[in-house]
Amino acid sequence: MCSEVRAKVEAVTDAVSVLEDSKPEKFSRLKSLLKQLLEHEDSTKMFSMVTETWNPVTGCEHSCTYCWARRLAETRLRNSKRYSNGFIPRLNREELNKKFRGGVVFVSDMGDLFGEFVPDEWIETVLKHAGKFSSTLFLFLTKNPSRYLDFNFPENAILGATIETDRNEIYKISKAPKPGERIKAMFELDWDMKFLSIEPILDFSPKFWRKIEKINPLMIYIGYDNYNCRLPEPALDKTLSLIKKLRDSGFLVFEKTIRRAWYEDSQLHEF
Ligand code: SF4
Repeated sequence: MCSEVRAKVEAVTDAVSVLEDSKPEKFSRLKSLLKQLLEHEDSTKMFSMVTETWNPVTGCEHSCTYCWARRLAETRLRNSKRYSNGFIPRLNREELNKKFRGGVVFVSDMGDLFGEFVPDEWIETVLKHAGKFSSTLFLFLTKNPSRYLDFNFPENAILGATIETDRNEIYKISKAPKPGERIKAMFELDWDMKFLSIEPILDFSPKFWRKIEKINPLMIYIGYDNYNCRLPEPALDKTLSLIKKLRDSGFLVFEKTIRRAWYEDSQLHEF
């Protein structure tokens, strides 16, 4: 483990031991520790707090047009055991022998663990294993957060949702539940450590920031598409204004790829 990653693991492990007391003042200390930890990171691709990934379940049927994981599975990894049949959901039992010693583990970055196509038993098996490692934080991320309401999570879980926009009518890039449904589910979710990924950001309504405020996430990552997919993105000024509003409201907002929208130089767009 390189010294940078080791330092990151140690800082998060400290933060988790604070969480174990689970009092509001301790929770705010966790938030400030995470902030310090994240401030100096380069976060254009991965979430900067993540120290390792763990893929007990891989594959996904949401078919997002911008999905880098599917692309990887169908190209560079296509001859591997996991992806020889394509990006089909599967439980990788060998991953359940893995041990963790602190840090933040991103669970199933090569799939969506909470997609409707994943059996309950697989999810329960993953949560049970994560619950054995109390000094490690497990970061879950889904486009189907209404399913979070069906499970009991260990206290070391960060429950995240990708919500690229709040405009259902422009959301034609995925078979995942519409953004409005995800917003509602995250609002109803009673969990201290909630997390939002607004990536790749899509054009949004003026009320988007209010909806995010109601969800009350511990942290938010925002970034534009990295793969030149020509998505219906917002203009840069609009995104910067959203980031400012959220920061002014006290949220931890981390920027990933922030750039001008693909159409901004030509002004040829309509969505
Ligand atoms: S939900 Fe994630 S893993 Fe599934 S298709 Fe979309 S981007 Fe890919």
